[in-house]
Amino acid sequence: MVPEFERCLASYCAAPHAVAVSSATAALHMACEALGVGPGDRVWTSPISFVASANCARFCGASVDFVDIDPLTRNMSLELLQAKLVIAEHQGTLPKVVIPVHFAGSVCDMAALAKLAQKYGFFIIEDAAHAIGGSYGETPVGACQYSDVCVFSFHPVKTMTTGEGGVAMTKNAELADKMRRFCSHGIIREPSQFCGQEQGAWVYEMQSLGVNYRMTDMQAALGIQQLKKLPQFVTKRRALWARYQEQLADLAVILPAELAQAKSAWHLYVIELREADRRQVFDRMRAHNIGVNVHYIPIHMQPYYQTLGFKAGDFPNSEAYYQRALSLPLFPDLSAQDQDSVVAELREAIK
Ligand SMILES: *Cc1c(COP(=O)(O)O)cnc(C)c1O
Repeated sequence: MVPEFERCLASYCAAPHAVAVSSATAALHMACEALGVGPGDRVWTSPISFVASANCARFCGASVDFVDIDPLTRNMSLELLQAKLVIAEHQGTLPKVVIPVHFAGSVCDMAALAKLAQKYGFFIIEDAAHAIGGSYGETPVGACQYSDVCVFSFHPVKTMTTGEGGVAMTKNAELADKMRRFCSHGIIREPSQFCGQEQGAWVYEMQSLGVNYRMTDMQAALGIQQLKKLPQFVTKRRALWARYQEQLADLAVILPAELAQAKSAWHLYVIELREADRRQVFDRMRAHNIGVNVHYIPIHMQPYYQTLGFKAGDFPNSEAYYQRALSLPLFPDLSAQDQDSVVAELREAIK
């Protein structure tokens, strides 16, 4: 079932290679490994993401740095990235990999990012954990039109799920091979690729160190069915998303924006409270049984990253966004009636 699921994903995304694994975290790690990230290398990502976007570099012994967000898109700011690259070039500290995160499903300006990648010589891994089902221009996210690798998550909270699971998409056959090898113990079974002499049909060679990040057939079977429903999941999310936009237009909140050149996957609906106290609104809504959430605590504010030297004030846009952010419930089966009560409770809470 795993190769079948991989073929379905490759076909859906119009990318030649899909390597399905046990999680997006695993996929990010093996993508970094396959790109040769190691001690002494630098990987940059956005502070407004799940911790896995940064941790993958640490697994490989590389150092992590962040580029602050654009307050409008909440994605990594390309202006700030460019400014940071200019300084890094002078100091000889350019990143090996940049990991843009399509936050909430809203796709980054990949064409502009790819221009910077070409100029400054870094690889791009898209963290598209929120963005399966979205597109950039006419091209689905996952096609890797402007990136080396694109990673999706199939964790239960994501747009489609395999219980736990993830995949790395790529156009590059060599990268796909390296990732496959790494996620299955570094073992090779193809005799033509052996370094030793052929000794019998039982022989396999472990030529490099690997892990076991394999996806199970049971997960893949679920994924094949989920993928068939993906267009319908995305359509429903889109409609609910648009309904929130309409119903909240008169409130003292900042609504999510959309890039003109891309179609979001509408994974999260995040507002920012202009005046009301986020803690009070959050607690009140939770007390009324509404599953609000906060995405995300800026990664550099996590105690682990503070021990690496990051501190409050390092990425002011991200920190200001975090103080005000509130994610409202958004999932395909959310009924219009329930959505209306979310809006009504929010109105009350903001008063
Ligand atoms: C969920 C998520 C991940 C990690 O996905 P897993 O499949 O749970 O490992 C990584 N990055 C982002 C942006 C996510 O939302």
